[in-house]
Amino acid sequence: RNAYLRNLAHCEYDPTQSSRLHDERLIEEDLRTAITTGDLPLRFQPIRSVAPGRTSIGAEALIRWRHPQLGLLAPQDFVPVAEENQLIMALDRYVLRSAAASAARWYGDFGTLSVAVNVSVVTLLSGDLPSLIAEVLDSSGLVPARLCLEITETAVMHDHRTATRILTAIKQQGVHVALDDFGTGYSSLAYLKDLPIDTLKIDRDFVRGIGADSRDEHTIETIIRLGHDLGIEVLAEGVETRFQLEWLTARDIDYAQGFYISMPLTERSLLTGRFKTRHTRH
Ligand code: C2E
Ligand code: MG
Ligand code: MG
Ligand code: MG
Repeated sequence: RNAYLRNLAHCEYDPTQSSRLHDERLIEEDLRTAITTGDLPLRFQPIRSVAPGRTSIGAEALIRWRHPQLGLLAPQDFVPVAEENQLIMALDRYVLRSAAASAARWYGDFGTLSVAVNVSVVTLLSGDLPSLIAEVLDSSGLVPARLCLEITETAVMHDHRTATRILTAIKQQGVHVALDDFGTGYSSLAYLKDLPIDTLKIDRDFVRGIGADSRDEHTIETIIRLGHDLGIEVLAEGVETRFQLEWLTARDIDYAQGFYISMPLTERSLLTGRFKTRHTRH
């Protein structure tokens, strides 16, 4: 919210209008309008399998807001506002529908790319998620295994019993689940063992420490070993250098994502760029 208000403050608004814009209900209104007009474009960041001879397996959908006055806004500028204002469920529903519709078009030349969608803790714990997913799969025609839900570790630990119950229902629908920003949320290992998840996404804070901070390196090694011992695949996010990718590959990481591999792309760039070439070579 702060970033949003800071941006608004930098705009040449009519001062009488500007005080009105500090009203959260008006931000909510702007966002509600954007959801109905579709001014919330998605970017897709490729996820690469690092095993030899393997390649991109899918992409993570990342939301942007094309604000009429402020230009393209990042999720941290408005997702927290949506979470405070009951709008997050509508936002998550919009992203799920839009991302699934896109991924359903990635058949043919593009083989079987998956799409990963970030889902807020509010939506996860609401209990409506299994029926929303059923609706999204039905209307898009997307094969369930090509949809992955990303839930943050902190969201799951907030109410691990409810989260485990809902995630179990979702897994029964054949959808994949990834634990996002892993390592930052102080998971209890006892809970982790019971969570029905397919992938751990190591937070980029640790990846940044590769080659610089041995504590980060040990944490990453521990997470990879823990994941593999539990039969869970491990992904490193925020991979920015070749050195980081090679370090992670030498330690048996399964997947990597980050600016070194690719920036988040428009759907068109995702399907026509480097991503396509790499994929179709195999
Ligand atoms: P996240 O799910 O952990 O997504 C990864 C974020 O890291 C993205 O930022 C991505 O652009 C950025 N990133 C990727 N590679 C690199 C890298 O190599 N270096 C650095 N420094 N950053 C990298 P973005 O798009 O600003 O999203 C921020 C967060 O907003 C996401 O974190 C996610 O928690 C949330 N978010 C994004 N889209 C949605 C959405 O559709 N719904 C919900 N509920 N939350 C979303
Ligand atoms: Mg994510
Ligand atoms: Mg993440
Ligand atoms: Mg993160």
